[in-house]
Amino acid sequence: MARLNVLHFPDDRLRKKALAVETINDEIRILAKDMLETMYDEGGIGLAATQVNVQKRVAVMDLSEGKDNPVVLVNPEITCTEGTREMQEGCLSVPDYFDTVERAEWIRYQYLDLDGDLIESETDGLQAVCIQHEIDHLDGKLFIDYLSPLKRQRLRKKLDKQEKLQSRIL
Ligand code: ZN
Repeated sequence: MARLNVLHFPDDRLRKKALAVETINDEIRILAKDMLETMYDEGGIGLAATQVNVQKRVAVMDLSEGKDNPVVLVNPEITCTEGTREMQEGCLSVPDYFDTVERAEWIRYQYLDLDGDLIESETDGLQAVCIQHEIDHLDGKLFIDYLSPLKRQRLRKKLDKQEKLQSRIL
């Protein structure tokens, strides 16, 4: 297993659209394992392949308290949504920033598991938010895209400052 490098906003590679996985082989299984290790290591609850610079439609998540319920979603798709709700979100690609985003409250979704079986399910709450957030990544979208232009501008300034500080330290 290997820990992968997570891209940070505003890296352009986070804007690439991931391609559907055609065959679930060892390469995909190793990628999923490495992504889970990276996600646990960084303290996240979800991670999309786009965030580790792999343009394949693979996402991992684990919403359990004990961090013992890893889920790997290959080619995940939302097939139906209902309602809206606001929830505070963060992202491993936008460190130390949290903000409220409006998303669908309830979703029906499908994906392939690592055996290639099609899983269809429905969910709401945090899990629904997480799946929408990760599929967005695979489409080159970030949660901060939903914020107002003013908020995005402020975030950009904050990150610029952090970068300057870092370059001074180095
Ligand atoms: Zn994210």
